[in-house]
Amino acid sequence: MYIVLLGPPGAGKGTQAQIIAREFGLTHVSSGDLFRENLKNQTELGKLAQGYMNRGELVPDDVTIAMVKERISRSDCANGALLDGFPRTPAQADALAGMLAELGGKVHCVPYISVPAEVLIERLGGRWTCPQCGRVYHEKYNPPRTAGVCDDDGATLIQRDDDKAETVERRIRVYMEQTMPLIEYYRRQGLLVEVDGTKSIEEVSRDILAAIRKG
Ligand code: ADP
Ligand code: ADP
Repeated sequence: MYIVLLGPPGAGKGTQAQIIAREFGLTHVSSGDLFRENLKNQTELGKLAQGYMNRGELVPDDVTIAMVKERISRSDCANGALLDGFPRTPAQADALAGMLAELGGKVHCVPYISVPAEVLIERLGGRWTCPQCGRVYHEKYNPPRTAGVCDDDGATLIQRDDDKAETVERRIRVYMEQTMPLIEYYRRQGLLVEVDGTKSIEEVSRDILAAIRKG
């Protein structure tokens, strides 16, 4: 079962992906986390991606597709995966369909978490991320038990460089221009299920779980 979580930056894809992956025993594949891992390890791919990420632009399709293809072909994705942040362009969506066909699978369902821009800005401005495990918190809406410390592994939480106000605006614009066409792409295939992402984390999870079970 391959599931694609769609939505603008700050919609709650990472937050929901962790909950849903646990529920269905699926591997969580986040293209953003893969890029950040490469950045931390200063790999060639990380160095290439860095400038794009800092500017809030998309990393070119060819390198992004190659990175995700390598990840999805590992054994822990053989029975399915939860994709978060990929695909982000129509070319990536076509490439995904090809990769899954090779694995004998296909996209099962595309929950689209919809949230208006002004809410996204507030969410990204208050987002704190664990550099160790990738878990995300919000200082107001989803705080850790101890301020600044990850509940799971005790690491010191950080604010991502690309969550600065000017980069956030650029990322939202890039999403509108390059990723929004995917809403129609998956709607035409009958896979899209729109979920109201302004509700609480628990309510959004419930709606997504219901959509996947029906899909
Ligand atoms: P994305 O992966 O789509 O960029 P995140 O899952 O990182 O989004 O969420 C962005 C921020 O919003 C985080 O700080 C997260 O804790 C918070 N958040 C996620 N879902 C909700 C929600 N339903 N209500 C309020 N805040 C939320
Ligand atoms: P968010 O969910 O908050 O938008 P991500 O962690 O998914 O952020 O992505 C962070 C950055 O990584 C993006 O701004 C972009 O530069 C790069 N990136 C992640 N996924 C992709 C992708 N599928 N295609 C191109 N660039 C990507």
